Amino acid sequence: MKLLALPAFSDNYLWLLHDKGRAVVVDPGQAQPVLDALQREQLQLDAILITHHHADHVGGVQTLRELTGARVYGPASEPMPEPLTRLRGGETLSALGLDFEVIDVPGHTAGHVAYFCRAPAELEPLLFCGDTLFSGGCGRLFEGTPAQMLASLDALAALPGNTQVCCAHEYTLSNLKFARAVEPDNADLQRYSARCESLRAAGLPTLPSRMSLELQINPFLRTRQAAVIAAAQRVDPSAQDPAGHLAALRQWKNQF
Ligand code: ZN
Ligand code: FE
Repeated sequence: MKLLALPAFSDNYLWLLHDKGRAVVVDPGQAQPVLDALQREQLQLDAILITHHHADHVGGVQTLRELTGARVYGPASEPMPEPLTRLRGGETLSALGLDFEVIDVPGHTAGHVAYFCRAPAELEPLLFCGDTLFSGGCGRLFEGTPAQMLASLDALAALPGNTQVCCAHEYTLSNLKFARAVEPDNADLQRYSARCESLRAAGLPTLPSRMSLELQINPFLRTRQAAVIAAAQRVDPSAQDPAGHLAALRQWKNQF
């Protein structure tokens, strides 16, 4: 089992998982990078998994379906390139002989889902979380509330610590700059920032990340930590609970 991050647009990754000549792709906003990879690696595309309706996640779906005949799976309640199998949280799909568990993660969009694969051969557990969780950050709240995003991030944070977090965008460095403003004294964050800066300087992705690491450095997963609460209350003294602290951080980040 192999996992590839195919770069697309200016900062998207299209995640491609493959084994024994068959492949699954997540959120193909563009068809061409996927077609190139299928050709290069000599793969047949079995399935397309979609996390949410934004164009940079679905733009390549119709072309890929027509050219490969791949099955398409997506969220139950979002506008989607039809036909597809719609899934909601708690349901499972199989591809490449693996189970992918669907997790409802509303917040960035109202019907956003994530896909969790517990035991891919030779790999650690995989989470495809679209634009819900980024390394060091989270998605903007376009359609959901802070309380929904908090519950979604809590659900992801409960996954095994060794889960490989496959985010849909390379936003890590700018997220970490913000995270350092929130928690200037977080030593894990300083170390991780240095590591990511050298990866980017070498032209390499910072992703996938790891859930245990995100719990140490991502302020949006740390809204119950004293230092993060204090920082959130500095920008919004009326913030009273974890959802309020998350809202204050998100608002601050939007203007950062
Ligand atoms: Zn999006
Ligand atoms: Fe996106």
